[in-house]
Amino acid sequence: MQMALTLTDLTAPHDFERLVLAEDISVGLRAMICLHSTVLGPAAGGCRMWPYTDDAAAIHDVTRLARGMTYKNAMADLGLGGGKAVIIGDARTDKTPELMQAFGRAVQTLAGSYWTAEDVGISTTDMAHAAQETRFAVGLSGASGDPSPWTAEGVFRCLKVGARHVFGTDDLRERRVLVQGLGHVGLSLAEKLAAAGARLIVTDIHQATVQDAVGRLGAAVCAPETVFDQQMDIFVPCALGGVLTQQAAGLLTARLVCGAANNQLAGDPVAETMAAREITYMPDYVVNAGGIISVASEIHGRPDAWRLERLSAIADRVDQMLRRARDSGRLTSQVADEMVRAMLTGRRAA
Ligand code: NAD
Repeated sequence: MQMALTLTDLTAPHDFERLVLAEDISVGLRAMICLHSTVLGPAAGGCRMWPYTDDAAAIHDVTRLARGMTYKNAMADLGLGGGKAVIIGDARTDKTPELMQAFGRAVQTLAGSYWTAEDVGISTTDMAHAAQETRFAVGLSGASGDPSPWTAEGVFRCLKVGARHVFGTDDLRERRVLVQGLGHVGLSLAEKLAAAGARLIVTDIHQATVQDAVGRLGAAVCAPETVFDQQMDIFVPCALGGVLTQQAAGLLTARLVCGAANNQLAGDPVAETMAAREITYMPDYVVNAGGIISVASEIHGRPDAWRLERLSAIADRVDQMLRRARDSGRLTSQVADEMVRAMLTGRRAA
């Protein structure tokens, strides 16, 4: 059975180190593993399971996500490069322990150049199955644990740095803060914001979570479709990607955007629209790195103190990014990307 696994190197796009097709037809595994960069360390990034229509769609997603991990891991200074894996299939119907074990064998074959963890469609139980076959699987229960509280803490710290730049103070008392999405990260963040005295407005498509926040945190509520009609000082997107469209950016009353959701911008020009309206956007991959910091502590075998120290380092880097953007008149997203490229070039030169 184990002999059925094959790894085939595909032509990686320009600027990518490696793209591998891992296949084991005996268990229905067809996965793409992409190493965007190992310049700063072994590539690390989650494994996603999704019913892609074809290989091209899977390659498009895995390469985009792998590059994103290089940027996120670099900005968080984790000694890790960027990579990602996608398994082609429906996580509800096609996933079996045998499939995950075969995926684990594929990861093991890459000999530590790629570390995997959970992403969309993959649970801690699935990762435990993969970990039976590889020592390069992390995010296991009983190890670094749920990364969400770390993500929330990282976003909270960055939001305070952003508030200092935009409002001249990081005192959040009476600041109107809208949290979109009260899931694992959003709720934890809402609790921190409430404790800091912010006037919370919350929204979620699940009413039970919203009612909990209203009762416990004294939050006001808005309907999900009215987010951009609300008066607010800070917008905290913690639900889906792509929420910041051109139209939303034109309506937004906030002066600061800082949230956990991945890929918040529906397109690059949205960052320009926000800047033109004097809205400071904190790039998502910079501020939401708390989760990968937690995972990295498991990879490197580091204690809690290391996680906290890395979280403080992101906040310092965000401060630097905001200063440079202000001094040069460039977008925060451009400055953040430049900071990462400088780190990669510096390391290559060294
Ligand atoms: P989650 O699934 O636990 O929570 C998402 C919440 O958003 C849910 O409560 C859902 O009902 C709500 N939601 C969905 N659509 C909505 C809409 N249109 N309007 C309002 N609410 C809506 O996810 P999470 O783990 O809290 O992650 C939130 C975001 O942060 C995601 O984009 C995720 O990719 C990103 N992120 C999470 C982590 C982490 O550690 N969990 C790390 C980095 C980035």
